[in-house]
Amino acid sequence: MFNPLPLLEARPQRTPIVVSGDRAPRVNIWQIGCQMNSADSDSLAEQFSELGMVPGVELENADLAVLVTCAVRQHAEDRASSKLGELAKWKSARPGRAIALTGCMVGEHGGSLLRRFRHLDYVFDVREPDGFFARLRDLYQGALEGPVPLPASDRLVAYLPVILGCNEMCTYCIVPFVRGREASRLAVEVEAEAHRLVDRGVAEITLLGQNVNSYVSPEDGSGLPELMARVDRVPGLKRMRFLTSHPRNASDRLLDAIADLRTACEQLHLPVQSGSDSCLSRMKREYSVESYLEILSRARSRIPEVALSTDVIVGFCGETDREFAGTLEMLAQVRFDTVHVQAYSPRPGTAAFRRPDDVPLETKKERLQAVLQLQRGISQERNQGLVGRQVEVLVEGVGEDGRAYGRTRQNRVAWLETPARPGDTVTIRVTSATAWQLLAA
Ligand code: SAM
Ligand code: SF4
Repeated sequence: MFNPLPLLEARPQRTPIVVSGDRAPRVNIWQIGCQMNSADSDSLAEQFSELGMVPGVELENADLAVLVTCAVRQHAEDRASSKLGELAKWKSARPGRAIALTGCMVGEHGGSLLRRFRHLDYVFDVREPDGFFARLRDLYQGALEGPVPLPASDRLVAYLPVILGCNEMCTYCIVPFVRGREASRLAVEVEAEAHRLVDRGVAEITLLGQNVNSYVSPEDGSGLPELMARVDRVPGLKRMRFLTSHPRNASDRLLDAIADLRTACEQLHLPVQSGSDSCLSRMKREYSVESYLEILSRARSRIPEVALSTDVIVGFCGETDREFAGTLEMLAQVRFDTVHVQAYSPRPGTAAFRRPDDVPLETKKERLQAVLQLQRGISQERNQGLVGRQVEVLVEGVGEDGRAYGRTRQNRVAWLETPARPGDTVTIRVTSATAWQLLAA
């Protein structure tokens, strides 16, 4: 079970950190995985700058490399391992460089990572980084000269974690083992952070949790809809979203909050995982296809123009052709705006790991392609249906070709044919569309 790991250090291997030149130590943060990891990386960057270190530098100019890892699928772990492999050369190129690893792989492998990767110096729990930062303070002492201001953020969208961990026990998922039990943050703290983000120029906030709709305010027991109402009142905030919801907790109050709150975007991401009841039961998802579809029809009737998206796993243990056909049928029936599909990856320690991973890799790949192909057609048609209509776009940046881009309230990417600046909110007509993006003028 989950065991917080404040800090482990490879003392015998670790060479003292030597800062290159007469300057504050520099940090490169590499990250993989979900939005929670993006939020963790941002939070680490802030803590580094408070300590007096400079985050966000290129690897070749860095003194410390930090890897924020993911363990949800084997592929993510393999990428972190190969990144660590590459860093061996980086580290030996200049004496005094160091490497730290955090994120979900720490919950899974703990101190064994230090034995497996001999050039790794620190392993720490991203939820309890104080020990790590205290150690850095000791080591870098002479080179730290008080907080380094973070560069003025040109970021318009930010993630704000509101609940950590997960109490569900989906049989395929490692998250509860590596991220621990659910712990909701104080509503007052979330609200203060939302104010801080908006003061730094953020226009859109996504409230985050593995199971965000099981948020319970420690102050008064209120839930996500009430928290959304508090964040909605932050002056200057333009848009609010939330990720990821469990279908079990998708209440009408939550749907109404999306419909009613000024900043709440008409978007609901509700992972279904499978369109077959027997598969859902082996996954221990605790809902049926019928009850899931019922939530979506309530969402569609209560929230005009709502965009629906989902996650699907193909090739889960024992998934038959018939069960997979159920998934395709359900996708064709719902016609989601977006579908994220993954092939099942067995994770050690989970309940499903004890079952045979009996869907051949070839079949998993075929099923993955079948979902992608079906969804490509649906997304294309849905986007085509918007041609000629007005959409509201929050401009997030300007591409290399000089065209501005942003996202609609329904989270569709839109490229603008008329000039606009990042931060602008423009209401504009869709002129053409592909499966993945809109063109608007
Ligand atoms: N909490 C969310 C939910 O209830 O679905 C999702 C969080 S999970 C980290 C993100 C997605 O990763 C899941 O929705 C699932 O589709 C996928 N996932 C999780 N474990 C997986 C596994 N062992 N193999 C393949 N995909 C997996
Ligand atoms: Fe994993 Fe299930 Fe929790 Fe989502 S709800 S993080 S899939 S255990």
